[in-house]
Amino acid sequence: MNLETVVSVRHYSDDLFSFQTTRSEDIRPFKAGQFTMIGMGDNDVLRAYSIASAPSEPHLEFFSIKVQDGPLTSRLQHIREGDQIEVGDRPAGTLILDNLLPGKRLWCIATGTGLAPFLSIVRDPATFERFEEVILTHTVRTVQELAFAEMLATCPIRYYPTVTRESFHTQGRITERLASGAVFEDLSLPPWSVVDDRIMICGSPAFNNELRNDLQSREFKHGTNRAPGHFVQERAFVMQRGEQD
Ligand SMILES: Cc1cc2nc3c(=O)[nH]c(=O)nc-3n(C[C@H](O)[C@H](O)[C@H](O)COP(=O)(O)OP(=O)(O)OC[C@H]3O[C@@H](n4cnc5c(N)ncnc54)[C@H](O)[C@@H]3O)c2cc1C
Repeated sequence: MNLETVVSVRHYSDDLFSFQTTRSEDIRPFKAGQFTMIGMGDNDVLRAYSIASAPSEPHLEFFSIKVQDGPLTSRLQHIREGDQIEVGDRPAGTLILDNLLPGKRLWCIATGTGLAPFLSIVRDPATFERFEEVILTHTVRTVQELAFAEMLATCPIRYYPTVTRESFHTQGRITERLASGAVFEDLSLPPWSVVDDRIMICGSPAFNNELRNDLQSREFKHGTNRAPGHFVQERAFVMQRGEQD
């Protein structure tokens, strides 16, 4: 683990914040979409965090939940500029473009902090060398939780936010809007095909399972380091036993 200095912090809501840190040379190069470990340096609590900044950027960025009784984030949410945090020096993870077969369109489907790895992917110029079109969907409960919306509006992507608990022009769960065809109609795009569309998924375990089951029932193959496929997924967090989402 490395000690890195917090260079900026931004709060979006009572539940979400993002922060940037220094990036020392000891942190190994990473691929857009990978995660590393984060700790506060004063006890042994370490948690996985997707890196939200692009591989070429001089700093690291993270997008975080605030779990009020969470062992890490009950304290991490109070960090300020100049504080030091622990950052793992070996980023890892399979939510990467290398694990996808070539295709025409890249779909990044996120809920909540599942947006984090896609922030790196859409800020990485390599993404646009591989795909003609990149679509990023982000589903949250309230409009306030649409973090990074301004930055995403400046990226060469189709940004498709949806909100579940407030009125919004694209309202509801993304799985429902995909199933009903509303997403494709809104974006004037054809429904997903194994020939043209490659899909990256990052959300709650239940959300990931729902989309994976749907894709696998339609001949989409899950991509791995050994065998690239039509879709890849990473959990945005781990559920505790007995929890529902
Ligand atoms: C591969 C991977 C990448 C991750 N990337 C991120 C990331 O970029 N940003 C981030 O905030 N978290 C991320 N997480 C979750 C993160 O590791 C921690 O769980 C989170 O920081 C909360 O830590 P905690 O110790 O405060 O609470 P924990 O004890 O870890 O979690 C308590 C409970 O809070 C809920 N919870 C935890 N994390 C989230 C979340 N992100 N969204 C909604 N509910 C949650 C779950 O129900 C969990 O059981 C990732 C997890 C994995 C496995």
